[in-house]
Amino acid sequence: MSTQTKQQQLDQIKAEIIKNNVCPDLAKQATQLVFGDGNADADIVFIGEAPGKNEDQQGLPFVGAAGKFLNEMLAMIDLQREDVYITNIVKYRPPNNRDPYPDEKQEFLPYLEQQLEVIQPKIVITLGRHSLNCFLPDLSISQVHGQPKRFKGRVYLPLFHPAAALYNGGMRQTLIDDFAKIPIILKKLT
Ligand code: URA
Repeated sequence: MSTQTKQQQLDQIKAEIIKNNVCPDLAKQATQLVFGDGNADADIVFIGEAPGKNEDQQGLPFVGAAGKFLNEMLAMIDLQREDVYITNIVKYRPPNNRDPYPDEKQEFLPYLEQQLEVIQPKIVITLGRHSLNCFLPDLSISQVHGQPKRFKGRVYLPLFHPAAALYNGGMRQTLIDDFAKIPIILKKLT
């Protein structure tokens, strides 16, 4: 057992990313590293794709329009951001918000795994297909959204990405309905 707090261990992983010069091309174009935000001892970890413009400027994940929607859905299930931990696969903003490349996701994956090892959440909630396919490459988000999946000792809940659902009425309602299942799924896990 480490004598460091979980937050100290997370801070160390963040420092490693910088020290190891991960994705230097992305780093050069980004304002800063967007490592993660929230409770290092959370039961729930949300994983998005990569920071956007607002996240790049503020150094925090999900602080733009998609983040506001995420906060609203958290409130619907009586949670605040401080109760959960939120991060992304790729931790620098890709230029012009392009999709992260496979090698960029691959380079960041070991650090994401380390974050999860430290936090030890009860459930990992993937937001969007990039995040789902990082962990469960054979599953299709349209088929498995809202269904908890147990894999290698972890429980995942795949959800649509809030940015994709924001302006798509049908997907938005599906995401809200899937989100409402979180407390029920968590309860079954404890
Ligand atoms: N979309 C993401 O995937 N992550 C963020 O942090 C913001 C928007």
